[in-house]
Amino acid sequence: MINSKKHKIIINKKRLDVISADTDFYEFLDDTRFYYSFDRLVMEEDRQRFVQNVEQGCREWFVVHILDANNHPVPCYVSLQEISASDNMEVVLLDIEKLRESESLLDKRCRVNEAIHGLYGDDAFVYYPDRDEVEIITGTGAHMSCMRMSLEQLQKNLELLTEDGNSVNEFITGLRNGSRYLFIKVDGSLHNINSGNGHSIIKCAGIYENGVYNMSVGYIHEYMERTYNDTRKIEIDSLTGLLAKAEITNMVIRTVDLEKRQNVTLAIVDIDHFKKVNDEFGHMTGDNIIRQVAAILADEVGDNGLVGRIGGDEFMILFYDAFDMEAARPRLRSIKNTVCGVFPPDVPGQPTVTLSIGCAAFPKDASNYEELFTLADFALYRAKEKGRNRYIIYSRELHGDITAVKNATISKTRINNRGDMSKADILCVIMDKVVCREDYPVERLLDDYLENFEIPRITVYDAEAGKVLHMAGQKVPSKEVIAETENYILKEYWQSLFQGTEVVINDVSSIAPVNDEVYQLLIKQGMTACLQVPFKDRKGHKCIVSFEAVNKRYVWNTERLHYYRLMAKVLAEYILV
Ligand code: GH3
Ligand code: MG
Repeated sequence: MINSKKHKIIINKKRLDVISADTDFYEFLDDTRFYYSFDRLVMEEDRQRFVQNVEQGCREWFVVHILDANNHPVPCYVSLQEISASDNMEVVLLDIEKLRESESLLDKRCRVNEAIHGLYGDDAFVYYPDRDEVEIITGTGAHMSCMRMSLEQLQKNLELLTEDGNSVNEFITGLRNGSRYLFIKVDGSLHNINSGNGHSIIKCAGIYENGVYNMSVGYIHEYMERTYNDTRKIEIDSLTGLLAKAEITNMVIRTVDLEKRQNVTLAIVDIDHFKKVNDEFGHMTGDNIIRQVAAILADEVGDNGLVGRIGGDEFMILFYDAFDMEAARPRLRSIKNTVCGVFPPDVPGQPTVTLSIGCAAFPKDASNYEELFTLADFALYRAKEKGRNRYIIYSRELHGDITAVKNATISKTRINNRGDMSKADILCVIMDKVVCREDYPVERLLDDYLENFEIPRITVYDAEAGKVLHMAGQKVPSKEVIAETENYILKEYWQSLFQGTEVVINDVSSIAPVNDEVYQLLIKQGMTACLQVPFKDRKGHKCIVSFEAVNKRYVWNTERLHYYRLMAKVLAEYILV
């Protein structure tokens, strides 16, 4: 057998003899086959195709079987690389079995990357430092295609799409040096340089194996529908007259990620106990308070920044020229005092209004918008946790770096109305935890799912034995009830529902007229709706994850099916049976 999973062999294009190879591969050849030409090592059925691909300089990965010393075929992925100004060619062999068995972080990272692809629907981006080449992978499975280019070519393409040569240089150098996180934003599309509208971002991270920089993996996202045209109408929030959520978000992203405006501070402001105000004084008063708070914020910020409404009682401010705590503090104090003056505490018959505020600075604390938002949001969370009516300015010494904050935030912050990106980001953090940490049992994963995605209950089934493996969340039935009801998953009727890849049932009572037996079992579990996704665990055992609602109406958002699929995909990282 081949000793390691990857081999590089230089062959002569015409004679196909082996010019050089790694030691492992020479060992695999041993003395008897040392002088074989490479095609003799390829199983006969594959030989003609291999030779053809060499002749045509095929740029796609393909599969061939390489014969071992006992003439057993070893399936391998093959990639061919021309070596310029030479008759030689590099052959990269990946032992498919070994690749599957391999538990290395790198492989896991690649799986995460594949999952990101599924999640964002984006192209995967990979950079190989050893050959200074980039691969852009589009589509998945049978529809996958791969575009390769040298880093130099990528640099040229990026330069065509932006006037900011520095950011391109930084990105390219970062790739070569194996930077931990890299981000670049350019105008237009990398696929179609002339397409004009919109912008693209590339995000990637250097992957290290045993301390050696191995590759950089990430994704490319194209925002083609949005144009940053300054003459376009600005979206305004109708209640407050502030910038609407999408508008302020885009403006802040542009200011931070594109223009890289120095010394700005992002603040997230949330009204304390606003539900109570609504409950006690009614929504009209609630609306008025939102309006008044908005006016105070707009007034306080003036021309020195941007203000927008990003949620019901939540606002975002970008202060210009606020480099650190000393610059931010007086502005925050002033907001706090003004609100306190307008809504003084403990006046009978009048609502008390206080604010909690979290903030972080760019570039002092964060290197891009996403990090900046995460840090400010974390500081807001701390302000709430510490008793509300206060502002907290993020500090690395006090709160830890971005990774620590991300890990701390993940289970604590409930996802609110901040949109899909935060859900996707949280899933990526969860995935990272699953693949990179040993002490992250499946129970913890399920708890994180329940908390972060507001799913009432999750059940994981052994789909072959029809047994419940894990159940977490609200109203988990007793062991006896589970034992009695779990077998519905094997019933012919239920099996017939899995026609495609998943089952979505918004109201289990719709099953009653069709199959009362199954319906009774579901009702006994307290289930009112479910969304089930089949998957295979790490040992290839068939499982099903069932996201469930109990005793309440629930409508699954099928536009978000990719999230549920991805949650199943993360579960597939575990050995469950
Ligand atoms: P916390 O201190 O943790 O922020 O408590 P909270 O009650 O303010 O909780 P949260 O911020 O999660 O809830 C915001 C509430 O704001 C939820 C909703 O009832 C209310 N709300 C959201 N949008 C509007 C709106 O446009 N008008 C009014 N009157 N209320 C709104
Ligand atoms: Mg609030």
